[in-house]
Amino acid sequence: MSIEQVGVVGAGQMGNGIAHVFALAGYDVQITDVSQDALDGALSTIGRNMDRQVNRGTITEADKLAALGRIRPTLSLADLGPCDLVIEAATENEAIKHAIFDELRPHLGPDTILTSNTSSISITRLAARTARPEKFMGFHFMNPVPVMQLVELIRGIATDKETFAACLAVVERLGKTASSSEDFPAFIVNRILMPMINEAIYTLYEGVGSVKSIDVSMKLGANHPMGPLELADFIGLDTCLAIMNVLHDGLADTKYRPCPLLTKYVEAGWLGRKTNRGFYDYRGESPVPTR
Ligand code: NAD
Repeated sequence: MSIEQVGVVGAGQMGNGIAHVFALAGYDVQITDVSQDALDGALSTIGRNMDRQVNRGTITEADKLAALGRIRPTLSLADLGPCDLVIEAATENEAIKHAIFDELRPHLGPDTILTSNTSSISITRLAARTARPEKFMGFHFMNPVPVMQLVELIRGIATDKETFAACLAVVERLGKTASSSEDFPAFIVNRILMPMINEAIYTLYEGVGSVKSIDVSMKLGANHPMGPLELADFIGLDTCLAIMNVLHDGLADTKYRPCPLLTKYVEAGWLGRKTNRGFYDYRGESPVPTR
C-alpha cells in the first residue's frame, strides 16, 4: 500500500501540525476545514513554525519552500477523494466526526485508509459508520505535532493487518515513534494524563492550591516540563472536558467525573490558549493566573 497523497480534515492546532510534518516528509497534503479563517490561520502558523525550524537549522529554507508548496488548502471535502490516507482532526465531537465520514464516503477510492486523530472516541464505533472498518484506525498525534515524538496507533476491532502496517510505515517515514494501543476510552496517553489534569483542577476547585502553586508544585516537585493547568490550557479546555466525558461515559466509574470548575471554564468560553484565556489570561505580555 503506497501512500503519497494525504488528506487532513480540520485545520485547527492539530490539523496544521499534521499537515506540517507530512509536507516536510515529502507527502502531498490536502487540508480542509469548514472555516476559511481556520485554513488561512493554519497556513500562516505552518509558515511561522517552519521559519523557526529554519532559524534553528533543523531544516533549510529550500525544505520549507518545498514543503509549503506541497500543502493545498480547500473548503471542499470532495477534494480529498484521491488521497491514499485521510486523517480526520476536526473538533472532538462524535456527531461532527460521523458527519465528516458520511460526507467523505462517496468521494473516496476503495483503497483509501481512513483514520481519526481523536483523543478519546471509540475507533470501533467511528469505523462502523464508514463502510470500510477494516481500513479504518486511530492515528493519534501529540500536541505540538512538529515537536512531539510519539504517535499512538489504535486498531479498531475490524482494522486489518495491512492498514496497521501501512500506518506504521507512515509514522516511520515521518521520523516519529509509534506506540500501539487497544481501542478503549482515551487509549494510553490520555487515559493516564487527563485524570491527572482533572485532579489538578479539583485541587484548584477545592482551594488546596492556587493555579500558580499547583503548576509550580508539579513542575518542581514531579519534574514535569509544564504544570497540569498550563498543559490543560495548551491542549484546550473543551478538548480536556470532552475526553473526561468519554472516560466517564465509557468506563462508568465516578473517578473520571469531570471537575465542575472545568465545565464552568468551558461554559464561559475560556478554552485556554486558543481563546487567550483559561487557567491563565494570555492577553498581556506574560500569562496571568485567573484564580
Ligand atoms: P481545534 O479546535 O484547534 O480545531 C478543530 C478544527 O476543526 C477547527 O478549525 C474547526 O473549524 C474544524 N472543524 C469543525 N467541524 C469541521 C468539519 N465538519 N469539517 C472540517 N473541519 C471542521 O481542535 P484541535 O485541538 O486541533 O483538535 C482536533 C482533534 O485532535 C480532536 O479530535 C482532538 O481530540 C484531537 N487531539 C487534540 C490534541 C490537543 O492537544 N489539542 C492532541 C491530540 C489529539
